[in-house]
Amino acid sequence: MGVLMHLVLMRRVVVVMRPVLARMGMGVRFPAAVVFVQVLMLVNVLVLAACRAAAYVLPSGMPGPRPPETVSDGVYLVGSSDLTDGRDCSAYLIDAGELVLIDSGAGASTGQIIRNIELLGLDPARLSTLILTHCHIDHVGGAAYLKERFGVRIIMHDLDAGAVEHGDQVRTGASWYGLPLAPLPVDVKLSGAEERLSFRDGTTLACLHTPGHTPGSISVWRDRDGERVLFGQDIHGPFLPEFGADLNAWRRSMKALLKLEADVLCEGHFGVYRTKARVREYIEGYLDQYGW
Ligand SMILES: [Zn+2]
Ligand SMILES: [Zn+2]
Repeated sequence: MGVLMHLVLMRRVVVVMRPVLARMGMGVRFPAAVVFVQVLMLVNVLVLAACRAAAYVLPSGMPGPRPPETVSDGVYLVGSSDLTDGRDCSAYLIDAGELVLIDSGAGASTGQIIRNIELLGLDPARLSTLILTHCHIDHVGGAAYLKERFGVRIIMHDLDAGAVEHGDQVRTGASWYGLPLAPLPVDVKLSGAEERLSFRDGTTLACLHTPGHTPGSISVWRDRDGERVLFGQDIHGPFLPEFGADLNAWRRSMKALLKLEADVLCEGHFGVYRTKARVREYIEGYLDQYGW
């Protein structure tokens, strides 16, 4: 479209300017100058078109303010409010012989998350699965793009899946964030108290239903070489009625998380906590705040 507009415009310039320049005695040099300017403008239009195409593939393909981080063997932090976009939750990548992403950010920086996967030396084409810990836009916003580009299987709890499938602007927090969320089908809906998912290299991820922040919140953990990594995500809340929050359910969920005695906690917005003692301290701190 841009190229066509350019050619039409240049034709008009030639028609209008030729008699004017001829009267000024510049008629001989004029065609060569026009061709030169035309070539420059055409290059300009093509570069702009290429940039626009690149922006579609990688909405923000430049390296982020902070590089991706290795959390544990085969576990990486690839998105967060510091790494990618201020509105993003922490997005964690697990190499399980295939790539599994836990949460996808708010959607404005999905290209940067993909870029971070590449910076780790991993091929984003190996992305097979997206586990959504709950329905909020800062966790599910990138899902549609990842589905379209990589065909990822989207997994989340049945009690939060409806909000995503219907594009519920209130329950997903989309209206609060002022971000768009189109209805998106969920491929696998978890409904048990605890369900296990198996992956290509034998990795098992356990998904525990931990309602409270939302009715369908889940926490995921992985055991490897005697170390338990827990993806607890929005442990800290908030607990708002419009999100279907339930503080009593949350208290029970936090006590279930404490029983896991995880060595590493990957939180939804506040970073990574190490050693069993610090993980316990973090969760207990919120139980102290909201009541046991
Ligand atoms: Zn969140
Ligand atoms: Zn949330």
